[in-house]
Amino acid sequence: MTNVGFLLDMDGVIYRGSKLIPGASGFIGRLRSHGIPFRFLTNNSQRARRDVALKLRRLGIEATENEVFTCAMATARFLASQKPGGTAYVIGEHGLAAALHRNGFSVVDDDADYVVVGEGRTLTFEMIERGVRLVEKGARLIATNLDPNCPTEHGIRPGCGAIVAMIERATGVQAFSVGKPSPVMMRAARTEMGLRTGEVVMVGDTMETDILGAVQMGYRSVLVLSGGTRRQDLKKFAYQPDLIVDHVGLIPDEFIFENLPACL
Ligand SMILES: [Mg+2]
Repeated sequence: MTNVGFLLDMDGVIYRGSKLIPGASGFIGRLRSHGIPFRFLTNNSQRARRDVALKLRRLGIEATENEVFTCAMATARFLASQKPGGTAYVIGEHGLAAALHRNGFSVVDDDADYVVVGEGRTLTFEMIERGVRLVEKGARLIATNLDPNCPTEHGIRPGCGAIVAMIERATGVQAFSVGKPSPVMMRAARTEMGLRTGEVVMVGDTMETDILGAVQMGYRSVLVLSGGTRRQDLKKFAYQPDLIVDHVGLIPDEFIFENLPACL
């Protein structure tokens, strides 16, 4: 049997808002019964991995924290490799601060090595102002992701990309982003599963992050139409996924177990 492992986007693939997507639970069960490794891969930096796992379990998906990989973790590990024991001013929520702490970083208000921006609902103008001043003084600007908005049950709200844009515009400094589609996060999640490039399948509902990230890494990719992308949107993109299905439960066994050539 071919070695294979899955990276699964969450919002639009496993659930939408607080509703489980049909087929998601069965698909995770199929992966488990065959001993296929996987990670839930999210560009949401608000929650710690343990909290994400709990959210999944409450929705009816068996998940442990080791199966969750967030852009906050990817960002914290990346920064720890760049500057061990560094300092960060954090514009974001507890998931981001916790990941930085766990990787040996200190969270500070002054003299920061980095200004690290995630999304959240506690943003104030004073925080943006402080971030701008720190970047002006030489702190490096990091975004956990550049998603322009986040889906909610009531519509969209500004995402990390929209928040960091205020600091970029004010300072003229462009942020370095770690989350999907950045190879930093895409590769870190693969490394955690102990797989090689050709053995990874990315399943997502967003062309600009999930599918682009997979195409750039050389992973196989599956676009699910259970989230934010419609079939007619595909003509806008020069790159295409290897497989398109209405929802994750419809990924056929043949696609999982064999290195099939691209099929649409
Ligand atoms: Mg999604």
